[in-house]
Amino acid sequence: MGKEYQLLINGLWKESESGETFDVVNPANMDVVARCAKAGQEETVQALEAAQKAFETWRFTPARERSNLMHKAAAIFRQRIDTIARLLTLEHGKPLQDSFKELAFSADVIDYYAEEARRLLGSHFEGDAGPTHSFVFQQPLGVVAAITPWNFPVDLLSWKVGPGLAVGCTFVVKPPSQAPLAAIEFLRCFEDACFPPGVINIVTGSGSVVGAEMVTHPISRKIAFTGSTQTGLWIAEQAAKQLKHVSLELGGSAPFVVCKDADLDLAVPQALRRSFSHTGQICISVNRIFVHEDLADEFIRRFAESASKLRVANGLKEPDADMGPMIDQNGLNTVLDHLQDAIANGAEVVTGGKPPAGEEYEHGYFFLPTVLTKVTRDMKVMREETFGPIAPISTFRTIDEAVEMANDTPYGLAAYVFTNDLDTAMYMAERIEAGGIGVNVNDITDIRGPFGGMKMSGVGRELGKVGLDSYLETKHVRVLRRKPRE
Ligand code: NAP
Repeated sequence: MGKEYQLLINGLWKESESGETFDVVNPANMDVVARCAKAGQEETVQALEAAQKAFETWRFTPARERSNLMHKAAAIFRQRIDTIARLLTLEHGKPLQDSFKELAFSADVIDYYAEEARRLLGSHFEGDAGPTHSFVFQQPLGVVAAITPWNFPVDLLSWKVGPGLAVGCTFVVKPPSQAPLAAIEFLRCFEDACFPPGVINIVTGSGSVVGAEMVTHPISRKIAFTGSTQTGLWIAEQAAKQLKHVSLELGGSAPFVVCKDADLDLAVPQALRRSFSHTGQICISVNRIFVHEDLADEFIRRFAESASKLRVANGLKEPDADMGPMIDQNGLNTVLDHLQDAIANGAEVVTGGKPPAGEEYEHGYFFLPTVLTKVTRDMKVMREETFGPIAPISTFRTIDEAVEMANDTPYGLAAYVFTNDLDTAMYMAERIEAGGIGVNVNDITDIRGPFGGMKMSGVGRELGKVGLDSYLETKHVRVLRRKPRE
C-alpha cells in the first residue's frame, strides 16, 4: 500500500480526531493505492472556522501578491506533474495520457485566473438624480465550500479554486472519496508555494457527513459543487434555506447530431472520442447519437468498426490506451442495467456489450465500448445518464425532428451538431437546450468560455469571466459630492 494522506486544517496536516481512515482502490486491479484520513463533522467545522479567519487577511492581500502565489503554485504543480499523473491514473483508472491532459489544463486554469486577479476592477459613475459619486465594489463572497466528483478530480477543482482564490475567497475542499489523492497533491502545491494557513483547507471523508456539514454550516457563503443531479438538488434545497450562493454543475445526456450534409471523416472519430474517452464517464460524454437516415448505414458501419478497435487497458501499463476501467461496481451495474433494458426492448448490440476477455481484465471494472442500434426513446439508455461506454444510435428525417429528439431529456449540458451548412448549425444552436453547443467539434470546453448546464444539468457557469464573477459580491457605495469645508 502507498502513502497515508492527512487532513489540512489551518495550515497543519493532521489525522482525523477519530483516527478513522478509508482506502483508495485502483479500479483496474483492486490494489489499495493509499489510505486517507476520514474526517467527521468536528474537523469540518474546524476547517470552516480556519477559512473564515484566513478570509479576513486573504481578501485584503494585494492582488499582485495573490497572483504571484498562484503562479508559484502552478509552477510547483507543473514540476510534479509526472508523479501526480501516475497517482491520478492509479486511483481513477484513466489512461496516463488522459491524466496528463487533465493536469496540464488544471495548471493553465490556475495561471489564467492568477492573471485575472490583477484585472479585477470596480467602477465609478456620477449620480443620476443628485450630486453623488457612485462606486461599485467587487468583493469576494467569503468562505467557499468546494465539493467535486471523481471523474475529473483535479480539473474541476481548479475551476473553483482558480477564480475563488484570485478574487480573495478562502476554501474548504472536499475531494471525492473514490479519487482524492491527485486533488490533495494539487492543493499541496499551494501550501508549498506558501499560501497563508487557512486559505485552503482539505477535509476528506464521506459526502453525507463532511460534504453535508460544509453545505449547511452558516460559515460557507458559496457552495461550488460538481457532481450528480441528485446530490445537486439536495444541496440547492439546503443552500436556499440560508440564501447561499451556489454553482451546480450536474449530470448530462449529450446528443450528437449528424446532419445529412455532415463530413463523416470528421464526425465519426469525433463521436467516437466523445462517446468512449474516460470510459464514457464525462458529464459532456455523448449519450445519444442521432444520424440523418440517409447517412445512417455508413455512419454505423464506420463508427462500430472504429469502436471495436479501441484499446481497453490498465492505463498505467498502456499509457496511450483509449479506455481504462470504470470507477467501480456501481458504475458497471448501471451500464449492465441500461444494456439489459435496451436489449429486452429490442435494441441490437453492434459491437461490445460485455467485458473484454483476458487475464489482465479479471480484477478490474472493465467494459468494452458498446454500440447499440434500434434504440427507442423510452429505453433507460436514452432517458438516463449511463455514465459508461454505451453509444446508442437512432435516426431522424428532418432538422426539426432532430432538435426535438435532442431536447427530449431532462438534462441540458452539452450538445454536438455536425453539418457543413451554417444555417443548419445556427438554427440548431439556437434551439437545442444545452449550456454548450459544439458545431463540428466534440468539446465545448475553452478556458475563456462559460461552461455549465441548463434544465437539470445545473445552475451557474464556470470558467472565463463569468466563472470569476460568480465568486464576487457587488456592492454599491454612494457618496455625497460636496465642497470640503476650509
Ligand atoms: P456525487 O455522488 O454527487 O458526488 C460528488 C461529490 O459530492 C463527492 O465528493 C461526494 O462525496 C459529494 N457528496 C455526496 N453526497 C453529498 C452530500 N449529501 N452533501 C455534500 N456532498 C456530497 O457524484 P459522482 O457520482 O461522484 O459524480 C458523477 C456525476 O457528476 C455525474 O452525474 C456527472 O454527470 C456529474 N458531473 C458533472 C459535471 C459538470 O460539469 N456538469 C462534471 C463532472 C461530473 P463522496 O465522494 O464522499 O461520496
